[in-house]
Amino acid sequence: MTLEYTQARWNSDDEGYEPHLAEKNETSVDTDDVPLPDGLKRDELTLPELSEPELARHYTRLSQMNYGVESGPYPLGSCTMKYNPKFTEDVAAHPAAGVHPDRSPESVQGTLELLARLENQLARIGGMDAVTLQPPAGAAGEFVGILIAKAYHESRDDERTEVVIPDAAHGTNFASAAMGGYDVVELPSGDDGRVNIDALEAALSKETAALMLTNPNTLGLFERDIEEIAEMVHEVGGLLYYDGANLNALLGRARPGDMGFDVMHYNVHKTFATPHGGGGPGAGPVGVSEELAEFLPSPHVRASDGGYELFEPERSIGKVHGFMGNWLVLIKAYAYIARLGDEGLADASAKAVLNANYLASQIEYEVPYGPFHHEFVASAGEQDAADVAKRMLDYGVHPPTTKWPELVGEALMTEPTEIENRRSLDQLAEAFDAVASEERETIETAPERTTAKRIDQTEAARNLRLSWQSFDDGS
Ligand SMILES: *Cc1c(COP(=O)(O)O)cnc(C)c1O
Repeated sequence: MTLEYTQARWNSDDEGYEPHLAEKNETSVDTDDVPLPDGLKRDELTLPELSEPELARHYTRLSQMNYGVESGPYPLGSCTMKYNPKFTEDVAAHPAAGVHPDRSPESVQGTLELLARLENQLARIGGMDAVTLQPPAGAAGEFVGILIAKAYHESRDDERTEVVIPDAAHGTNFASAAMGGYDVVELPSGDDGRVNIDALEAALSKETAALMLTNPNTLGLFERDIEEIAEMVHEVGGLLYYDGANLNALLGRARPGDMGFDVMHYNVHKTFATPHGGGGPGAGPVGVSEELAEFLPSPHVRASDGGYELFEPERSIGKVHGFMGNWLVLIKAYAYIARLGDEGLADASAKAVLNANYLASQIEYEVPYGPFHHEFVASAGEQDAADVAKRMLDYGVHPPTTKWPELVGEALMTEPTEIENRRSLDQLAEAFDAVASEERETIETAPERTTAKRIDQTEAARNLRLSWQSFDDGS
């Protein structure tokens, strides 16, 4: 039966919003006794004064006005929105994790050992020779990878000007290449949704610094010609970059390094636990082949004299983030990999692929291409994919990614991940089918049953109000 979901509304006078804490009770706090120099003290400080139950209710209510992976299915394609087991949070909350980043390496040997072990695990999983944990996101990892490629070419007195990227790639690939100072050569996909060998041949030249590839690609299709592609790129002296956002599909089964990739990033917040729906923090470690290890960012960890030390690789591109990166996110990734083990990781990718193919076979919307790996892209056909997405919330499921990749008209890019069982996949299929059968007039004003109704997304993106205060004064 199709679920008719209704999100909480706590204040019917005020468009259903839960009041801000300060609106519940604001109290002036006396600053006389505060032990700060007078010059730093305010005359008066207004803070909300609330009891613990009031506070607990406030945050519980806010959570009931939101939708997350702990509310129901969340098949946001390319983002790998999977449930993150609580034990990883427990491990990251261990008092020893609260180590100050300025401590001397000698006094934090356990921390360095964990970082070194995680580097080794990631290297093993990706088939790479060395890994840096510093970059704070996949996009930052791409940029680091491009800087490493640039340093590599420059070290050989072989300055190159172009990076080749398929048209189906994530927008961050184009941005990373451009930020690295390269001209982007866009590669049109073939009719089967994969890299077209003739088009690649035409795009490659002595100017090619790198080809950036996602495999399986954003249509959920495995690049079957990957070995030939790697050979072609290496033949012209370029490097092969692996965008690891879709690694969930290959985990424990195939390794980018074995396919011929020279440099890659891991989106640990997609593949190895850490909730990332709010936009971060995440981590985007970068793995490289032996030849590129001397260019890794500093500081880097290594074993020495029965312990661990920090050092600067010989031709390091320098520092790319504070200290060792987003440490607590890295602990969660370590805990997840350690707990699942090789068998568990391979099981996760098997289920992710099975779930995507099962769901693709169950829905009425047309699903071109396939068979798929961890995600598929359906077409909303005559409907507007954005309307479909909004309406799906009324059926108690999070919508897929929409309108991308552009190879599929009105794209619904769907990635159920390994966490869903058959019941929730069927619930998702029912939600898709319910919307598919509805009239345009019904879906173009959706959602109806959520706390916030249809919002003006363009206005929201162009006119950011990042605090309640700026929203309140309309600034
Ligand atoms: C998410 C994603 C990225 C960027 O990663 P972030 O961690 O969000 O910065 C790059 N490529 C693809 C295909 C992605 O899905």
